[in-house]
Amino acid sequence: MIIRLNAGNKEDLPFSFAMPCDKLDISSKGTIYLGNAIIEGKLIFLGGDYAAEGKVTVGKRFLCDRCLKEVEKKVHIHFSEKFSREESDDSTLFTGDEIDLTEVVRDNILAAEPISHLCKEDCKGLCKICGKDLNEGECGCDRHIVDPRFSILQDYRIDD
Ligand SMILES: [Zn+2]
Ligand SMILES: [Zn+2]
Repeated sequence: MIIRLNAGNKEDLPFSFAMPCDKLDISSKGTIYLGNAIIEGKLIFLGGDYAAEGKVTVGKRFLCDRCLKEVEKKVHIHFSEKFSREESDDSTLFTGDEIDLTEVVRDNILAAEPISHLCKEDCKGLCKICGKDLNEGECGCDRHIVDPRFSILQDYRIDD
């Protein structure tokens, strides 16, 4: 994912890449990245430094942490990174007349990985007693009794 810089050019430089996910070396626990990552954006000339702004579109497959269903999702990850020929805290160093986006794209994909994988934000999960997928409807089990956090409270109430 290399952008070649043209010394005389001060205009924004659009870029577009398709990079096979298995070549990007993005492995994250529990997630399989599918097919190609599509990277689109523009390189902005900052009078010496450059800024790369764009978005990565990538497909991924995972099991929902709550209902264990297999899910495929396409995600869009926006990124913005400064590139400089001089070392600095807020930019990525580059030399010569080439800017390589590979590392930035990889870092942004990994940083966008959520801590928990859910098929949807409000997934109800599985019933702890009968195993039914509660997204498909109530099963009728009384789940409050088996939840250890509640059973402690119930014990206190009995002692009264
Ligand atoms: Zn789920
Ligand atoms: Zn149940």
